[in-house]
Amino acid sequence: MSQVKRLFLLQETDIAIDECRERMTGIRRELAADPLAAESAALERQKAKLEGLRHEQGEEAAAAEDLTERIKHHEQQLYSGRITNPKELAALQKDIELLKGHRAPHEERELELLETMEGLEAAIDEAEIALQRAREKLARRRQELEQTMTGEQQRLGELEGRRAGLVADIDPVAVAQYDRLKAQKGRAVARVEQGICRACGIAVTVAWLHRARAGETAGCPSCGRIMYLE
Ligand SMILES: [Zn+2]
Repeated sequence: MSQVKRLFLLQETDIAIDECRERMTGIRRELAADPLAAESAALERQKAKLEGLRHEQGEEAAAAEDLTERIKHHEQQLYSGRITNPKELAALQKDIELLKGHRAPHEERELELLETMEGLEAAIDEAEIALQRAREKLARRRQELEQTMTGEQQRLGELEGRRAGLVADIDPVAVAQYDRLKAQKGRAVARVEQGICRACGIAVTVAWLHRARAGETAGCPSCGRIMYLE
C-alpha cells in the first residue's frame, strides 16, 4: 500500500472518529436533558394550587362551623323556656337570623371551593398518569441511548486503534504534513479524479499527476492538499 493511500485511509479514519465523537456528544446532551421538566413543574404548581384551595376551604368550613355553634347556643336559649320576656325572645330570634345571614356566604364559598377542588383533583390525576407514562417512555429512550453509547465507545476504540496502526506505517514527516494541512484546511488529502482535484476543482497538470502516481506525497498545485489518485 502506498503512503498516499495510507494517508487517505488515515483521513477516512479521522472523519469516522469525528463523526463518532459528534454522535457521542449528541447522546450525552440528550441524556443530560430533562424533557419532562416543564410538565413536572406544571403538575407541582397544580398541586400547590390545590393545597391553597384546601386551606381556604378549611377556613371557610371553620368559620361556618363557628357560626353554627353560636346559632345552636342561641336556639338552646330560645327554646329553653328560661327566657320569657318577649322583647328578649325577639332579640334572640333576630340574632339567630343575623348569624344565619353571616353563615350563608361561608357555606356558599365552601361549596364553590369543593367543586373547584374536585375538578382540579381530576386534572391532577390525569396529569400524573400522563407524566408517569412519559417518564417510562423516557427511561426506555435513555436505556436505548446508553446502549448506543456503548456501541459508539467500542467503535471509537476500534477507530483509534486503526488510526494508530496507520500512523505507525507512515513516514513521520508525512504525518506531520498531514496534521498541518488538516489543521489549516479541515481535510489534508484530496481525491484526484479525471485529472481534477476534488477539493478545489483545479485541473492538475500531467507532470504533477505523474508524481502523485509514483506514490509521492505531492501537494495539489492550487490548494496544497496531498493528492490521492485511486
Ligand atoms: Zn486542490
